[in-house]
Amino acid sequence: MRLVLLGPPGAGKGTQAQLLSENIGVPHISTGDLFRTHIAQNTPLGKAASRFLDAGELVPSTLTIDMVRERLTVPDTQNGFLLDGFPRSIAQAEALAHTLGDRGIKLNAVLSFVIDEDVVVERMLARGRADDSEMIIRNRLKVYAEETAPLLDYYADQIIAIDAAGEVDEVNRLTQMKLHNNVGTR
Ligand code: AMP
Repeated sequence: MRLVLLGPPGAGKGTQAQLLSENIGVPHISTGDLFRTHIAQNTPLGKAASRFLDAGELVPSTLTIDMVRERLTVPDTQNGFLLDGFPRSIAQAEALAHTLGDRGIKLNAVLSFVIDEDVVVERMLARGRADDSEMIIRNRLKVYAEETAPLLDYYADQIIAIDAAGEVDEVNRLTQMKLHNNVGTR
């Protein structure tokens, strides 16, 4: 099963991606986590990316796309993957379609986690990550609205919308149910 997870920062995408990855047995690929690992290990990519994460800006697409392309060549993605935080712009979505097309495959569905902006800010302030100060949260929401939200139209035919306001287990249950009803067990 090849899935993309969409939703504003703070929608609980990462947590849901982790659970779903265990439910359906495909790797969880979070570009945010990949960048944070590069930064922690002080790799050249980490050095190039860190100021963008600090500011809540998108890392330039070429760096991001190359990193994802490489990750998708790892054999654990053979039976599918769950992309969390990628694509985050139309250009990235087009690059992804291209990469998958070259391999004769495509996405099975795009899960869209829907949540109110006030709840999002509250959640992000509570989790206390380095890039979670209020000003940076606001910038990330702005970047989401401008760059990422257009993907809801781009993927309109493939979207499965999920109400992400509930408790973690409830949202996971909803996600599995909707996925089963819409996609089955491919
Ligand atoms: P996340 O953990 O998904 O909230 O991502 C944290 C930060 O990593 C974002 O604010 C961006 O700076 C960077 N990032 C993650 N994914 C992408 C992406 N697909 N394109 C550009 N930057 C990204």
